[in-house]
Amino acid sequence: NAVDQALVNDLTGAPSSLQRRALAKIITLLESTRMDHRKRADEVLNTLLPKTGKSFRLGISGVPGVGKSTLIETLGLYLIERGHRVAVLAIDPSSSLSGGSILGDKTRMERLSVLDKAFIRPSPSSCTLGGVAEKTREAMLVAEAAGFDIVIVETVGVGQSEIAVAGMTDMFLLLQLPNAGDDLQAIKKGVMEIADLIAINKVDIDPNAAMRAQLFITSSLRLLGFQGNPDHASHDREFWHPTVMTLSALEGNGVPELWEKILHFQKLQTANGQLQARRKQQSGAWMWDRIDVGLKNAFQNHPAVQTLLPVLSAEVNQGTMAASVAARRLLEAMGHEFF
Ligand code: GDP
Repeated sequence: NAVDQALVNDLTGAPSSLQRRALAKIITLLESTRMDHRKRADEVLNTLLPKTGKSFRLGISGVPGVGKSTLIETLGLYLIERGHRVAVLAIDPSSSLSGGSILGDKTRMERLSVLDKAFIRPSPSSCTLGGVAEKTREAMLVAEAAGFDIVIVETVGVGQSEIAVAGMTDMFLLLQLPNAGDDLQAIKKGVMEIADLIAINKVDIDPNAAMRAQLFITSSLRLLGFQGNPDHASHDREFWHPTVMTLSALEGNGVPELWEKILHFQKLQTANGQLQARRKQQSGAWMWDRIDVGLKNAFQNHPAVQTLLPVLSAEVNQGTMAASVAARRLLEAMGHEFF
């Protein structure tokens, strides 16, 4: 397709307003629900693939109001001053449910968004977290092909969205407020266990409270180190122990130290092969996740299944057929043998 080839050329050319427009257009193409668009998006992604993967992918999460957009703006400006190009993507699974967005419709990151070296894209809308996550992963690849060397993926802590973000980034940063309620919530949800780094924001308001939170979380992490769920551990604890720091996203203190920490993590994990291993594991999991979803859709849309499903569901409900037998019959309605 000549139009798409022109888009790809603009995207992979020199940084310009043309490039940013191509980036936005390609992301719109891959967010489309039309089948012909999807086919074109797949072609474009395949063409771009050799140019992807060269960025550092940073996930950031925290409850609404913790200071995510303030931090991303401060950090983004800091990085651009140092010659980086920063893309910011968001995952907000609540937008399609509530019709509004928790990440906010307010103009966010006003100073960052006007810079040529920044690209900010709001969350795609889709009815499932998996759908939103897939579009964001793909958008991340396109941003990388355009030469953005830092990609930040932001999410609010709704449902499993933190797990989704940790599952597509090189490092997962959890922002916390300096109060114990917030700490306990994160521990309960298992988010603390997948964090590579924890930063307590708003240290400027009450430095003592921030320090208490830092001590509390540090000791909780030590406990989780022994009791944590290994299935959730997104990194090898042998190589990296998550630490807790304090910062003020608003005033900027602690932000250079945060970046130092991130660079240290990146160097260490690159040298010991963990970064590559994590990305490989993520690609594999992503593929299987989409296969699962695709199979389920194909099943639900199959004409024979659609006819048989209400009949067999009724039988299972009435207790005249075993659930496992009904499941096998339905699967076999797709034309394959299932054991
Ligand atoms: P988000 O919902 O996580 O994106 O949070 P925002 O970045 O929108 O911040 C929520 C509010 O907290 C805003 O009014 C910010 O100005 C404020 N805020 C964010 N970071 C800090 C900080 O470090 N110190 C102080 N005092 N306020 C902050």
